[in-house]
Formats: sequence, C-alpha cells, structure tokens
Amino acid sequence: MRKSKPGLKAYDYVIVGSGFGGSVSALRLSEKGFKVLVIEKGKWYQNKDFPKTNWQLNKWLWLPTFRFFGIMKMTFFRHIGILSGVGVGGGSLVYANTLPKPQASFYKSGSWAGLADWESELKPYYKTAHRMLGATSNPYQEEGDRLLKDLSIEEQRKEFFHTTDVSVFFGEADVTVADPFFNGKGPERSGCNRCGACMTGCRHNAKNSLDKNYLYLAQQLGAEIISEHEVVDVKPKGDVYGSEGYQVYFRESTRLFRKGQSVKAKGVVFSGGVLGTIKLLLKLRQSSLPNISPALGKDVRTNNESLLFNVVNNPKKDFSKGIAIGSIYKVDKDTHLEAVRYGQGSGFWRLGMTPAVDGRNILSRMLKVCWKLIRSPWAYLKLYLVKDFAKQSIVLLFMQQLDSTLEFKKGWFRMKTKASSGEHPQAHIPLAHKLATKTGELSGGKPMAYMTESLFNIPSTAHILGGAVMGSSPSEAVVDKNNKVFAYKNMYICDGSVISANPGVNPSLTITAIAERAMNGIKKIK
Ligand SMILES: Cc1cc2nc3c(=O)[nH]c(=O)nc-3n(C[C@H](O)[C@H](O)[C@H](O)COP(=O)(O)OP(=O)(O)OC[C@H]3O[C@@H](n4cnc5c(N)ncnc54)[C@H](O)[C@@H]3O)c2cc1C
Ligand code: SF4
Repeated sequence: MRKSKPGLKAYDYVIVGSGFGGSVSALRLSEKGFKVLVIEKGKWYQNKDFPKTNWQLNKWLWLPTFRFFGIMKMTFFRHIGILSGVGVGGGSLVYANTLPKPQASFYKSGSWAGLADWESELKPYYKTAHRMLGATSNPYQEEGDRLLKDLSIEEQRKEFFHTTDVSVFFGEADVTVADPFFNGKGPERSGCNRCGACMTGCRHNAKNSLDKNYLYLAQQLGAEIISEHEVVDVKPKGDVYGSEGYQVYFRESTRLFRKGQSVKAKGVVFSGGVLGTIKLLLKLRQSSLPNISPALGKDVRTNNESLLFNVVNNPKKDFSKGIAIGSIYKVDKDTHLEAVRYGQGSGFWRLGMTPAVDGRNILSRMLKVCWKLIRSPWAYLKLYLVKDFAKQSIVLLFMQQLDSTLEFKKGWFRMKTKASSGEHPQAHIPLAHKLATKTGELSGGKPMAYMTESLFNIPSTAHILGGAVMGSSPSEAVVDKNNKVFAYKNMYICDGSVISANPGVNPSLTITAIAERAMNGIKKIK
C-alpha cells in the first residue's frame, strides 16, 4: 500500500531510506512490536513502471533538476564517480542481484578488526540474509558467461570460474505463482525470462528486490512506508543526546514546491546509503547533532573497481541474454572479475565511451586515445555504431580486495571528496586492462572505457562503502560494533556506510547480514 503521509504523529523508530539496511531494520523492528515509519526519497515503482531500456532517461535516472525521478543516480566527485539506487527498495531496484560472500581477510582488516570474531559472528546472519533475499545459484550460462569461462581456461584457472548466487526467482519463465519464498506470506512472483534487464528494474516480477521481501513483510506487520520524501533534519529531544527521542523533519522530494512536515521518534535508523547518510550527517553535525564523531566521512572505500567494456562488432553475438551478472571468475587471491549485461536496446553507455588506454597524465592518455582512433578509424566507428549496444557488448566488472580510501567532507554547495593520506582508488588498474584486452582477443572485440576513467583518471564505483565506520571509541569511529551511533540514544546506522573494510566483492549481502545482526541486538518491547 502506497502512502504519502505518515498515519501517526509519533513512532518508536523512524528509518531514513529503504535500501538493504533500511529494509532489514523495518522488518526486524516491526517484528519486535515497534511502530515503524520508513521515509524514502525516491519513487515507489511497480513492475510495469520500470523503463524498457536505459534510453528512457526520466525513468532510469534520478536527476531532479531535469525532473527525472528514475531509479539510478550518478554522482561525480573530484576523485570518484558513484552509481547508486534511489526508490522504495533502494539499490535493490537497480542492482545486478549478485550476492557473493567476502573472503576471510575482510573480517580481520579495517577499523572493525578485533571488535568481534566477525567471520563466525556473522555466519548465521549471512545465512538469514541469503534466505530472505531468495539467493540461489544461477542455473544458466549464456554468451557473456561462456566468454568469462574461456578467459579462466586461457589462464589455466578454470576451477576459479563459477556461476553466481543471485536474488532471482527461477520459476518457469513469465509464469506467475503464489509466494515461493515465505510460506505464502510474501507476494506472488513470476519466473525469470533471462532478459538481462535487471539493472533497469525488473518488469517481470522475477527479481527479489527489497519491496518483494523485507519491505513487503514489514508492511504486513504494520510498518508504514512513505515515498518521495527526504529527511532533512533530526533534532534531539530532552537533552542533546536524545534522551527523550528525536523530532524528524522531512520534505517532499519530487514536487517543485516542497512541503515539509515532522514526526516524533524514540529512535532513528539512518539507512540512506553512503551518499544519503554521510551527506545528511555531515550537515547535521554542524547543527542538530554536534556530538557525532570527527571520524564521520573518513574511511570511504570502494571495491577498488574498474569498469571496462568489451565491444564486439558481430551482430550474431547476443551478450544481452541472461541475468545481469551470471558468473564470477576469481583471477587471483585479491581479484574478482564479473561479466555484466544490460537488456536488449539499452545502449546509453555508448555515449562517452573511448578506447581503453593507460598513461600517466591526461595529455598522454588523450594522445593514446587519438592514436588508437587514427590507426583504426573504421573499426572504432563500427563499434560506436553497433546496432544494439547491449547485445554486442559486455561490461567487465573488476574488483580487488586491496585497500584504498577517500574522505567525504562538507563543501559550500555539496559534499566533496578529499584524497586520504594512504592509497586512494585509481581508475587505471593494469591487471584490469590486461584482462579486458585478453577478453577482446578471445571474442573478437575491443576494450573500451568510460571517458571519466580513461581520460580523467576518475574511477567509477557501484559499490561505495564506509564513511561512518565501526570502532571502539568515538575518537576513531562513528558507530560501535552494534551499529549504534556514539553519544546518541537509540540512534543507529544500518547501510553501506558502516562497512569498515573492503569486502573485495559486491557488498549487498554483507550490508544485509550486518544490519540483521544489529537489529537482532535491539531489545523487544515488553
Ligand atoms: C548499477 C548497480 C549495480 C549493482 N549491482 C550489485 C550487485 O550485483 N550486488 C551487490 O551486492 N551490490 C550491487 N550494487 C550495489 C548495491 O546496490 C549497494 O551496495 C546497496 O544498495 C547499498 O545498500 P544501502 O543499504 O547502503 O543503501 P541503498 O540501497 O543505497 O539505499 C539507500 C536509500 O536511501 C534513500 N535516501 C538517501 N538519503 C535519504 C534521505 N535523506 N531521506 C530519505 N531517503 C533517503 C535513497 O533514495 C535510497 O533509496 C549495485 C549498484 C548499482 C548502482
Ligand atoms: S533477467 Fe529479466 S526477468 Fe530475470 S530478473 Fe533480470 S530483469 Fe527480471
């Protein structure tokens, strides 16, 4: 049921944002008998509302200045370009459904190391997260997956190629059945038809996005969800530590003239994702919540990703068939590579694509791009003009466990990034280029990169993490090991911002498991 106004003036918990952390919090707090309100900035999309391709920019992109209220946001900073999800269900609407578990070193590195035996402590919560998200092994291998497998064979590492665990319902294609996941308490679902369009939103009711599991079940238990409203302030009541709760202020996010309102809450869970939570808290640390740790905004990480394309001028190839990420290849102990696809007709990314090159500065990279284009003008022109970009290209998502961090700071007009003292994420990773070149050779294609990466050396990520990391004291961290914000009563952060080390793989399962653990620690109402 969609709502645009809260039904009550006071709640036990208000949850800011409805992505992975927010959805887990909504269900688990409702199960404990709390009155819960979820406030989500984005729209509440139904299956049929999702764009048919990523050329339908008003439904695909979140760009309020142009009155585009779609499900994906691109945010560009000096040091990084970030892709994230917006809407009821957060990043699950736009994500590629892949749910890998990190390897052992994740649990023993970063600011949370030593606070708990994370690997064994999180084991049962990973299991719950896996079940709740309906994760299952992808039963199909398509063109892109076979190419990744060929690469693993070429490198004599075939045993390190696997199909992915994904949150997709693989019933009979396009056939609707009663809830197959939650003993009939969940919504009806339809079988995946392998159209490849998971990252523009599943129009076929097969993707297990959060509105089909956690949020749906939370609503059955009375949780209220209002969409198209953005939380803008959280003021403590009683004293500066929120001993008598908080007044939460929010305003409309999709109208030209934005009306505001507020509700009381005994507790608040910030779940706006890294971009939403850190931006809001950096602002509130200067006004309503001055006791938030000085560590806020620090230790921002990615999976050290590189996103390269392999484009093939061969109309017989169809890389668009399958689920968005069907397979994963472990290249070495620190590195994973995934073959990622868009659905037929989705060709937006061909805009702004250049030949993939390396080089120390923008001049040398520009010269190399020009040289490649001059040497093989027809070959590249044909690649730019391939009939269906989604069918004739595959995105190579390269991720590494190696650590590198950035800092978010409050700027005059918007949040900005600052390079931290150690390594910060780089666009050009020689191993990623080597793998993309080999993939090109195996498939008759050429490696291409997005302009921001190849020319401006700004890496892109769909996996932004950290900024409100865990630690043992407020001088070094924003939350304790139970996701509780230091210095405030009943205030939690449950989203990607608390991830305190680099998981090296897609992070949603981990965000879900950590949120499950945090919510398990909150006491029931007696
Ligand atoms: C194209 C793409 C593909 C991806 N594929 C995968 C994948 O295959 N596997 C994987 O594990 N991960 C994937 N990810 C990453 C994954 O989507 C994120 O890591 C995950 O969604 C983060 O979860 P979260 O709980 O931090 O918050 P999010 O899911 O980001 O949700 C935060 C929500 O809060 C809302 N919000 C923010 N601020 C406010 C505010 N002030 N008031 C109200 N609402 C607010 C936002 O609109 C958003 O809906 C992908 C991401 C993208 C963009
Ligand atoms: S491949 Fe198509 S039908 Fe299957 S989950 Fe993705 S979008 Fe839905």
